[in-house]
Amino acid sequence: MKITILGNSGGFPAAGGATSGYLLEIDGHYVLIDCGSGVLSNMFKIIDITKLDALILTHLHNDHISDIDVLKYAIDLSGKYGMKRDALPVFAPETPEIAADSLRSEGNLIIGRLKDGMTMNLYGAHLETFRMEHPVETYGLRIEHNGAVFAFTADSTPCAAMGALLQNSDLAIMDAGMLEKHRKSVMMHMTAAECAEAADRYGVKKLLLTHILPLIDADELLAEARTVRPDSELALLMNTYEIG
Ligand SMILES: [Zn+2]
Ligand SMILES: [Zn+2]
Repeated sequence: MKITILGNSGGFPAAGGATSGYLLEIDGHYVLIDCGSGVLSNMFKIIDITKLDALILTHLHNDHISDIDVLKYAIDLSGKYGMKRDALPVFAPETPEIAADSLRSEGNLIIGRLKDGMTMNLYGAHLETFRMEHPVETYGLRIEHNGAVFAFTADSTPCAAMGALLQNSDLAIMDAGMLEKHRKSVMMHMTAAECAEAADRYGVKKLLLTHILPLIDADELLAEARTVRPDSELALLMNTYEIG
C-alpha cells in the first residue's frame, strides 16, 4: 500500500493547498479518503475519474466533503464525453442528516454506511473503523494489507479508541489541528504534542501530522511534536508514502 497526500489543510485550504484528502493505493486499486476543498484537482494529477475505485468519508464536516458536489459533476460529464464509469461506491456516516441527505441526492454515487467497529475487505486489504471523539459522527480508519498497517485518526481529540486504532501501525496520519498554546476547555482536534504522545504510547512507527490550520505556523506545529517525538513529520502535500 501507499498513500498520497492530496490535502493536508484543516478548516480551509492554505494558498495553493487543499483540505482533507488522501489517495490510498492497494495493489493498483485507488481509494480516496475524504474529499475536501481542492482534493479533486490534486487527485487528477495522479489518476483520472475512471480509475477511482471507492471513496471513504470519515465524517461530514465541510473541510472533508466540499469537493463531493463537483465530483458528481466530474462523473456525469466524463460519461458524456466518452469516459463512462460505473457509479462510485462511497462509505460515509449517516449523520448529520442534512449533510447525509445532500450526499445521497442525485449523482452517480452508491452510498454505504460507515459504523463503529465495522470491518470490510477493501481490495484485499482489511479495513476496521473506530468511532472518534469529534462534534459529529466521525470514524478513524485502520487498514492492514500484507502485514503493513495504515492508521488515520480523521478529526479527533484523544479518546478511548486511539489505542486500538494506532497500535503498532507502520504509518499513522493524525489530526494535529492545534498547538498547546491555543488549548481551550473544549477541543475538537489534537495538539501536535498530543499526536506525538499517542503515536509514542501506541508504538506507531512513522507519524505524519495533518489537518494543519493555515493560520498556524507549520514549523511551530512540527517543533511542538518533535519535543515529544523527534522523528515526527508533517504530511507533505502531493508526497507519496510507502506503508510498511
Ligand atoms: Zn476537519
Ligand atoms: Zn471535523
